[in-house]
Amino acid sequence: MTRLAASITHGRSIASRVDERCDVVVVGSGASGMTVATHLAEAGHEVILLEEGPYIRRDDYQSFKPSESIRRLFREAGMVAALGVGQTPLITLTLGRAVGGSSLLTGGVCFRIPDDVHARWERELGLGELSEKALTSAYDDVERRMAVTEVPATIRSRSTDKFVEGARAMGVEMKSMRRNTGDDCEGNARCNFGCPAGAKRSVDASYMPTALEHGARIVSDALVEGVLEEGGRAVGVRGRLLGGRYGAPSTPFSVRARAVVLCCGAIHTPGLLQRLGLKAEAIGKHITLHPAARVVARFRDRLNGWDGALQSVYTDRYHPEGIWLNGVYSAVNILAAGLPGVGPEFRERVTQMPHYGVFGAMVHDEGGGWVQSSVGREPALFYRMDPRDLQRLRKSIRILAEMALEGGAEEVIPPIFGMHSIRNSRDLDRLENDPLDPRRIECMAFHPLGSARMSNDPRRGVVDPRGQCWELPGLYVADGSVLPTSVGVNSQIPIMTVATHVAWGLREAL
Ligand SMILES: Cc1cc2nc3c(=O)[nH]c(=O)nc-3n(C[C@H](O)[C@H](O)[C@H](O)COP(=O)(O)OP(=O)(O)OC[C@H]3O[C@@H](n4cnc5c(N)ncnc54)[C@H](O)[C@@H]3O)c2cc1C
Repeated sequence: MTRLAASITHGRSIASRVDERCDVVVVGSGASGMTVATHLAEAGHEVILLEEGPYIRRDDYQSFKPSESIRRLFREAGMVAALGVGQTPLITLTLGRAVGGSSLLTGGVCFRIPDDVHARWERELGLGELSEKALTSAYDDVERRMAVTEVPATIRSRSTDKFVEGARAMGVEMKSMRRNTGDDCEGNARCNFGCPAGAKRSVDASYMPTALEHGARIVSDALVEGVLEEGGRAVGVRGRLLGGRYGAPSTPFSVRARAVVLCCGAIHTPGLLQRLGLKAEAIGKHITLHPAARVVARFRDRLNGWDGALQSVYTDRYHPEGIWLNGVYSAVNILAAGLPGVGPEFRERVTQMPHYGVFGAMVHDEGGGWVQSSVGREPALFYRMDPRDLQRLRKSIRILAEMALEGGAEEVIPPIFGMHSIRNSRDLDRLENDPLDPRRIECMAFHPLGSARMSNDPRRGVVDPRGQCWELPGLYVADGSVLPTSVGVNSQIPIMTVATHVAWGLREAL
């Protein structure tokens, strides 16, 4: 039998069965898991953190090309999607699968949960523990560790500048956003593939060194397949190390612990809860995604949009209407692959690449997603978009297109398959009002939430306000699953803040 060494172990290199014990076993090493593991290790508890994906050192992934990053850091090589049910587009969903989880892939954008969302959680859902005031010190702690700072205007890209000018012409003032890059961002515009400059404080850079310093043991390539239960309590987890050919499951392992914390993300945590036979109706349901779209626009000037911060400005002006706008760019190879046309037309467009600008929007959605974990190796995700959210999505595309035109774009390529370019105000109206099969909208998401929601009523939720499962003491959930509604802004800081709250509560309980 093998014992786990201190620090980081590549699970795939272990050939014989592992049976371990510790105080707290954390499953999933992304934004939430690394947060929980660090706090509990700092408090002196013996922590084991298990991660299904590989461990790739920062200085290795920093030199990955986007295509290599997609193969090695993204779940299913970036091919996860929510299948649209009813009047709903297919929504591609990007997730990380590596030590550091999706945190490695973020654009670094950092927002706190807007006041009105906190107020709703407190007043309508009775979750005083998640009020803005109750979470203030957790927010402060996360932002300090993540080195959250405002993006200086000097590293804005010219692509972003064009949309800022367009917005201003519409009476909308963009604001500089905050990101977890300290003052080190070089403006390489490729955060989503792992920061090449090592500036982004993803959790492998910000939290992991502290966790290791305090004795946490991290095991990569460790797929957790079940939670161990004894006498009505969670007492550990079991699974297999992915050391077989092409990463197939091979050597079995188990870790027994006083507390088990699931941090597999909102798509993968529900499967482990369902396999336990828990009865809560809300498991795997009520998933929100922040459905997002971007427009690509061609300007007369050369913008070289890849030169500058990937994301640097935002506006909350449309937040009351459920729409959030964030500046963004896209790796040029991916941008090129999405341009319309074939043959000479496509070739001509690709030669125009320096002239394209990009901007993005997302919808503060009502939810309508669910996962089925028994279908195949990966959970199947379905999403039925609320008609209100579909209208919000179309409106957001229109706003972005208008900003581009006001900023001087000669042509806007809408994210709607088969629709001609937008060149004037008549075209803009079509975007919002023409009959449209929603399946033609090119829609994406990065922020799944809500599949094991927190509630103070066991009939409505899966975990109590401290993150412990109502049905199984000793089992905690601290990832995006527990957020009770969508938040309308990028989700990493919100999730890590709630994870900090759960970790602090567990620290007291232990
Ligand atoms: C491309 C991209 C860009 C983003 N940009 C931003 C941004 O700019 N700002 C922002 O705030 N948010 C952003 N996000 C969202 C942010 O990354 C997530 O909200 C956050 O990382 C979710 O945290 P989590 O802990 O719930 O899940 P994750 O960080 O996804 O971590 C879950 C981990 O659990 C592991 N796991 C799953 N199942 C198992 C199992 N059975 N056994 C062991 N391990 C398992 C997974 O492999 C994964 O590593 C972005 C996300 C992506 C993908």
